[in-house]
Amino acid sequence: MGRYTGPACKRCRREGMKLFLKGDRCRMAKCPIDTGRPAPGMHGARPSKKSDYGMQLREKQRLRRFYGLQEGQFRLIFQRASQKRGVTGEILLQLLEMRLDNLVYRLGFAASRRAARQLVLHGHVTVNGRRADVPSMTLKVGDRIDVKSRKPSQEAVKRTLDVQSRELSPWLALDKDNLRGEVLRVPTKEEIAPFVNEQLIVELYSK
Ligand code: SF4
Repeated sequence: MGRYTGPACKRCRREGMKLFLKGDRCRMAKCPIDTGRPAPGMHGARPSKKSDYGMQLREKQRLRRFYGLQEGQFRLIFQRASQKRGVTGEILLQLLEMRLDNLVYRLGFAASRRAARQLVLHGHVTVNGRRADVPSMTLKVGDRIDVKSRKPSQEAVKRTLDVQSRELSPWLALDKDNLRGEVLRVPTKEEIAPFVNEQLIVELYSK
């Protein structure tokens, strides 16, 4: 299936929560979730009873859309998580969170995960001093993300940082003057996505 190109807000309404897909506009009062618009469709406002499968699917879609990934990409990350030692659901969340595009967004270098992906793809950042233009790259504790010293890169990020008032995630460090970020530690499940029941996703993919 190709990339979704329809209205972003419709996705949030379907999931019943803010997915922050539109950058600064998501923090404005006119966000449809804040104004209480129901799920899309003729019966959107009606509460519906879901089967076990329906609940598992919804949970997976919610997390996948939160990170702006396609089904194939999401499934690959799940497979990687299931091959590692530990609790699969938690490892899945950590792998998603440690993606380069997500960290660029969390640091406030871009207004949305989608914008962060563009920033990476266009070669505006480096990781540990090396070129890094692959959004899916997984970072480790101690890795450093720098915005390139080129004027266009610096200006684009500074503009975004200036208008953002987002709180910095506690597992990251940010040096605003030098446009540099660092991963301090692996975040916990509660810090990453407290809204998700990752066990339902594990059950869905284990069928
Ligand atoms: Fe639209 Fe952003 Fe609100 Fe989602 S969070 S409904 S993308 S404005």
